[in-house]
Amino acid sequence: MDRKKHILLLTTGGTIACAKGSEGLEPQSAAIMAHSLDRLRHYYAITVRELLCLDSSNIRPAEWQLIAREVFAAAPDFDGIVISHGTDTMAYTASAVTFMLPGLQKPVVFTGSQLPLTEELSDGPDNLRTAFAMAASGEAGVFVAFDRKVMLGCRAVKVRASNFSAFESVNARYVATVSSQGLVIDRSALPTPQGAPRLLENVSQTVFLLKLTPGLSPEIFYALKDLGYKGIVIEAFGLGGMTVLGRGLAGIRSAVESGISVVVTTQCLYDSADLEVYQVGTSLLELGVIQGRDMTSEAAMTKLMWALGQNMTQAEIAALFQKDLAGEITVSN
Ligand code: ASP
Repeated sequence: MDRKKHILLLTTGGTIACAKGSEGLEPQSAAIMAHSLDRLRHYYAITVRELLCLDSSNIRPAEWQLIAREVFAAAPDFDGIVISHGTDTMAYTASAVTFMLPGLQKPVVFTGSQLPLTEELSDGPDNLRTAFAMAASGEAGVFVAFDRKVMLGCRAVKVRASNFSAFESVNARYVATVSSQGLVIDRSALPTPQGAPRLLENVSQTVFLLKLTPGLSPEIFYALKDLGYKGIVIEAFGLGGMTVLGRGLAGIRSAVESGISVVVTTQCLYDSADLEVYQVGTSLLELGVIQGRDMTSEAAMTKLMWALGQNMTQAEIAALFQKDLAGEITVSN
């Protein structure tokens, strides 16, 4: 019989590890997950490490770094790594860890649940099963496994607050699905490894995500500059349109001229922003904004936070966003 794959489970909290407390659901220690691992231990050799015990609303860049460091250090010793995590900010963590670990050579799979493992009808056991199967697949990358689907971490978005089908792979095919054939992997949807494994954990927290609304005051851009922001991701309208009448563009021009990297994506969940189609978009390109194309807001934010954390210049960041690092953006050659 083949040797069992050795999988590391890093626990960070979230609903999956919650139990009812006096003020509502509270994350408990990793021990709460132990009994649901009994069945999985039949198939895998499992090591469990409790890394954090947090509702994911409390997971910030320092925790992303902790997770990335732990994964980087442990990856050579395991066939794959599963990270249990709250669903609310899982897409941000999975995207950030993707950029922090270029050249990753092992599968790293985030999962969680909408109903705690302590509940009889929890979706947690099923999600853990899918995550462990992906972690044992040998396919390198950072993934999110949920509701029998596996997607790139940098394409995952939480689209439902309570439904078990909480995540979607936005503008990218699923990497794997579970069917009567077991875990079916679509190899064409996997990321291409980028050289030797590295840990590049520095991120900047001076990035602001701005959702454009009709009549938004341009003063917001001056205020962000004064507050020391170095990057702005704008969720613009449709294909990437911004209000150009009145003083609509003056604030953006001043932000770009002061050295702030401005990335424009769309507030539509699906399809790509393309600033070259409408005059309201081309005016932005002339100002020097960066096309976020079909990236999710989570991926655009974390890529920009990471690029600034690597001390890249405005021009280097513009060039970086022309490149697909891990499957996060569709760029034409
Ligand atoms: N509030 C929880 C968290 O993100 C929700 C969940 O895990 O589903 O930690």
